[in-house]
Amino acid sequence: MGRFSDFHQRSIQDRDAFWAEQAQQIEWHKAPQEICDYSNPPFAKWFNGGETNLCHNAIDRHLKDRGDQAALIFVSTETDQERTYTYKQLHAEVQRMAASLLSLGVQKGDRVLIYMPMIAEASFAMLACARIGAIHSVVFGGFASGSLASRIEDASPKVILSADAGSRGGKVVEYKPLLDEAIRLSSHKPNSVLLVDRGLAKMAITEGRDVYWSSLREKHMHDVVPCEWVDATHPSYTLYTSGTTGKPKGVQRDTGGYTVALASSIPNIFCGKPGETFFCTSDIGWVVGHSYIIYGPLIGGMSTILYEGLPTRPDGGIWWSLVEKYKVTVMFSAPTAIRVLKKQDPALLSKYDLSSLKALFLAGEPLDEPTAKWISEGLGKPIIDNYWQTETGWPILTVCNGIEKTLSKFGSPGKAVYGYDVKLLDDQTGEELTQPHQKGVVAIEGPLPPGCLQTVWGDDDRFVKTYWTTVPGKMVYSTFDWGIKDEDGYFFILGRTDDVINVAGHRLGTREIEESISGHPAVAEVAVVGVADNLKGQVAMAFAVLKDGALLNDPQALLKLEGEIMKVVDNSLGAVARPARVRFVSVLPKTRSGKLLRRAIQAVCEGRDPGDLTTMDDPSALLQIADLVKASNK
Ligand code: AMP
Repeated sequence: MGRFSDFHQRSIQDRDAFWAEQAQQIEWHKAPQEICDYSNPPFAKWFNGGETNLCHNAIDRHLKDRGDQAALIFVSTETDQERTYTYKQLHAEVQRMAASLLSLGVQKGDRVLIYMPMIAEASFAMLACARIGAIHSVVFGGFASGSLASRIEDASPKVILSADAGSRGGKVVEYKPLLDEAIRLSSHKPNSVLLVDRGLAKMAITEGRDVYWSSLREKHMHDVVPCEWVDATHPSYTLYTSGTTGKPKGVQRDTGGYTVALASSIPNIFCGKPGETFFCTSDIGWVVGHSYIIYGPLIGGMSTILYEGLPTRPDGGIWWSLVEKYKVTVMFSAPTAIRVLKKQDPALLSKYDLSSLKALFLAGEPLDEPTAKWISEGLGKPIIDNYWQTETGWPILTVCNGIEKTLSKFGSPGKAVYGYDVKLLDDQTGEELTQPHQKGVVAIEGPLPPGCLQTVWGDDDRFVKTYWTTVPGKMVYSTFDWGIKDEDGYFFILGRTDDVINVAGHRLGTREIEESISGHPAVAEVAVVGVADNLKGQVAMAFAVLKDGALLNDPQALLKLEGEIMKVVDNSLGAVARPARVRFVSVLPKTRSGKLLRRAIQAVCEGRDPGDLTTMDDPSALLQIADLVKASNK
């Protein structure tokens, strides 16, 4: 057996001793009394009795040895800004932000919602929350009022942080009007809204509620705010993610387990070393951004790049120019971004000195072989696929080159990461599939390792019901992904088992989009499915039934309606969720018991066999969809 399989086996069979060792990579105010309390499955309490602080481990502990080293490098090709904060400077900014939050009445355990573009202040806000034991909830800036309102409602934040605007491709994207609308829609109202004014857009100010970061920062310029020592099990943040139902779930993360998991992942998975530079191109609104733009690299004593802008502006070489300039050693992106770059001049890949770069990590969606080959040949560097979820906070499947150099296989994210007891289960019987190449649900035996979700915010029942009861006869965590494993232990991910789709690496629930479209007064009923797309991996495709069936014969009216419906989605969920097309039919394919046959619709859209349709109520429904697809392919 190799070093990695030993390592993995120990993490499962000698779990507590293994994680006790990993826990030494972080600083504790009080050492844990117990490594894992799993007396009440599936709720795991990692490092019970221990006290630590995420911000202390990300910043303060490095001040002695690397206070003058770059911690955060903010680069915006949208506003032409580039600023480096050393660990000392980051420490000062975060204390100013922490003092400002305290002055607004934020206390340990209070929620703070962050709805911000990719600017340095967003990272100060996250770290400041961690510093004072407040629970942050970052909402992706691409979400619109409806999505934001449901998150405000669920998280009930005392304070919301936002900004006048972001910028995308040189176009100003205002945040404040969307935020004001979301607060209006939500029954929960924050006490204060703390605003960063970037001078990009004028803001309407609500007196008594809205305050400017610039004035509070001035006031708290020299404040010292010590880290609040919190229990290892104290929630550090919630992050909302889509599932089968329309209501997004607040994934709740702890403090001790998350800090340990990230600390150990930096050398073991990413081969990152203190003093080196990590460049993760994700967004702070996603889990990858939390773990590998902000917390992971800083915990690991690295410099981290926070990038606002497109991968193609001013040209498709911008990311590689940053690799050269900041001597990036570890880079992390998503397949969809590489597919965008693939359309650019390939010479841009060899224009810059990339000798510092050790590997490019890709995650968030399936990595197709042509894309993997193109980028691997273009860069001449290892490309490392890794598979995980908002829920887990760090990779479930990959190759851990920091432990043992391991071959990557195209199409496979790799093997089960240490700490994860990954199994493939038969979805009908719950039985474990032990033969190579058998297709099953990717499941994880409890306890989930440190760093994974503790529960669903405010809803333990939903946590248990959603994740732990879907495989018959077993309490085991379901990832809701299909997978197979080959004879060497490499997994291959084959897509979701539920109604979640993945558009350009963004996870979206088709139900959320359906609910939003149903908000249009002309729509009687709608089905949304994910359809394979060369650039984005998948796109959402909507099929709607109109209240007024006569409109089906009026192509002009349908075109207008399609535009209106897309606007409805833009306004409620955001452009990320906008369907590629909205098509109109007189009836949707359903079973006799009234269940929408989304999978059959998806198959027809992708030109596949829709499978067994014996339970379908009205066979003409699917034919209408097939005709529309055929007509658009002509
Ligand atoms: P999210 O929670 O937004 O990170 O989405 C998680 C989902 O994205 C997973 O359940 C998978 O369906 C998909 N996913 C993430 N990473 C990969 C990968 N490397 N390969 C295939 N699918 C992936």
